[in-house]
Amino acid sequence: MSPGKPLILVTGGAGYIGSHTVLALKQAGYDVVILDNLVYGHRDLVENVLQAELVVGDTGDRALLDKLFNTHKISAVMHFSAYAYVGESVTNPAKYYRNNVLGTLTLLEAMLTASVKKFVFSSTCATYGIPQFMPLTEDHPQNPINPYGASKLMVERILSDFSAAYDFKSVCFRYFNAAGADPNGKLGEDHNPETHLIPLVLLTALGKREAISIFGTDYPTPDGTCIRDYIHVKDLADAHILGLEYLLKDGVSEFFNLGNGNGFSVRDVIETASIVTGRDIKVLERDRRPGDPPVLIGSSDKARKILGWLPQYSSLTEIVAHAWQWHQQRHR
Ligand code: UDP
Repeated sequence: MSPGKPLILVTGGAGYIGSHTVLALKQAGYDVVILDNLVYGHRDLVENVLQAELVVGDTGDRALLDKLFNTHKISAVMHFSAYAYVGESVTNPAKYYRNNVLGTLTLLEAMLTASVKKFVFSSTCATYGIPQFMPLTEDHPQNPINPYGASKLMVERILSDFSAAYDFKSVCFRYFNAAGADPNGKLGEDHNPETHLIPLVLLTALGKREAISIFGTDYPTPDGTCIRDYIHVKDLADAHILGLEYLLKDGVSEFFNLGNGNGFSVRDVIETASIVTGRDIKVLERDRRPGDPPVLIGSSDKARKILGWLPQYSSLTEIVAHAWQWHQQRHR
């Protein structure tokens, strides 16, 4: 730890969005300690790229948290760690409520005990459920249609209640589709199992998978496939720095969408990937995946206005190109 630099606890800092944010924090001059149970996170990225202190453990482990807060002078917490497979949350909701809700509540109570009262939370557009209007703004009704989205909404509610009851301030970011990779190729997306469209398309381009399945070609969209708002992970990381600085300057608790404001279809993504990679990508047309709304596009005007957030990488080509650079090197 260096004197004078605020120390930020980042849970899930060995994961996809968390690791990119740790890199941005370090570049912005913060010190970081990562708490990650390494179930999905990558030790090699923490050790070789982030070079941050790593504590291996769960957010539900109160004794570990108390020790961590007692031995580190932490200014704020950024909380990324969560289970995030929508399908699994439907078949095993207990796992999601235990980790995402109980684990977070344990972390929040440990923070209160340690008098750490600034919290940046990874929420999701899945808290909105089926869109009633588009683009989705923060005041859209929140009616999640799966336990994953419900678990995130429960934490949002806990945070509102903590703000009202204690001197506790939080920023909740509702992400749209996180995508891309560090523009310098140091970090990227590496889920196991992988379920997200862009990495699956690129793994197909690399020959690691036979084909990419399109889940549904009969949606009421121009090309029949689902439209999503893909937001570059570096832009997400930058928003977190702005959210943290907002809290450190005594901002009040807030909720923000983080999206690109542009929609791209599944076919757009596959076509862009074949141009970026220069490879043929075999496509299979499949049935719809249950629970997929036809279109999800977010308005991030509030984050732009209040935080001064200005996404840098809104072109799909750039998002896919950065992801491709990472995948080629990760799967060499
Ligand atoms: N998708 C697809 N084939 C795949 C994975 C995803 O057609 O193998 C579609 C999915 O139905 C959705 C979009 O791609 O419309 C983005 O899905 P992803 O799982 O990446 O993110 P989600 O929108 O579910 O958070």
